[in-house]
Amino acid sequence: MIDTSNLLYYHIMKVKDNIFVVGSIALDSLETINGNSDDLIGGSATYFALAAAQFSPVKVIGIVGEDFPKQGWDILNSKNIFCENILSKPGKTFRWGGRYSDDYSTRDTLFTDLGVFEDYVPAEIVDNKNTSILFLANIHPDLQLNVLNQYDVKPNIVAMDTMNLWIDLCVDEVWKVISTSDIFLLNDEEAIQLTNQSNINDAGKMLLDKGPSHVIIKKGAHGSVLIENSSTIEIPVYPDIKIMDPTGAGDSYAGGLLGYINNNGISSIADAMVYASAIASYTVSEFGTKNLINLNFSEIEKRVEVIRSLI
Ligand code: AMP
Repeated sequence: MIDTSNLLYYHIMKVKDNIFVVGSIALDSLETINGNSDDLIGGSATYFALAAAQFSPVKVIGIVGEDFPKQGWDILNSKNIFCENILSKPGKTFRWGGRYSDDYSTRDTLFTDLGVFEDYVPAEIVDNKNTSILFLANIHPDLQLNVLNQYDVKPNIVAMDTMNLWIDLCVDEVWKVISTSDIFLLNDEEAIQLTNQSNINDAGKMLLDKGPSHVIIKKGAHGSVLIENSSTIEIPVYPDIKIMDPTGAGDSYAGGLLGYINNNGISSIADAMVYASAIASYTVSEFGTKNLINLNFSEIEKRVEVIRSLI
């Protein structure tokens, strides 16, 4: 019998369980009714990694500029997050600015400065042999494809996200990524924009026909819905929280979802959505990554119980 208390065995098992994510690593400037904040450490890969690291080791693929602050590296060097696939290049880190409406239901992009992302070509991915899950976080679809094409052996699960910008600018490439994905996460507006359907159930069904076996449509304060061929499952949000900054809600939702699936298998996806929803509820109740950095697992479990009681 294998002695699982043996540390080497544990290490090898964990290495085989790696989640990889490619996405943005950013400095965000935000305007909200509850205050403004500049140069917050953000980006789709950052939020994802902090959430997924609650469950599994996460390897981040991305790029920062020479202005990326030590505080950012401290966050990216958190427990369970690995940075050997992050390039640091002369130039500016990706910057994004957003302004939220007073009820947080809509967001305007104020600026997107690509900085070092403009000419980014991912280097050969270090140590990608044993990837269980690859998450193609919100970033230009050509970059998502570049990373996916580096895999000789397809990861067990390829999951993806995108945003309205890429649907506007390069929808054909977005469809290419969708066709390679097993799990597609997107929000309700993006689902309607992408499919031209009039409701999200029809949009989800159409997306299922394009490749993914699971489509998860996020509906902000109205929860999320899983659309599979045979069923549809609705998961609510954690109720009655004061929203401070919704940035990263979707990415941390994806991190919680895929971290949980990495440990419990794809058949646990509905339960994974509950964990994802609990983690996202912490993200939105503080600015930037503040709550995610300090989050411990017992706090997540408490909110999981509440969300379960609402299903
Ligand atoms: P979310 O609130 O889940 O949509 O994700 C917010 C994060 O996405 C922010 O931290 C931004 O830095 C990042 N972001 C915004 N626009 C882009 C973009 N065009 N490409 C990649 N990341 C972006």
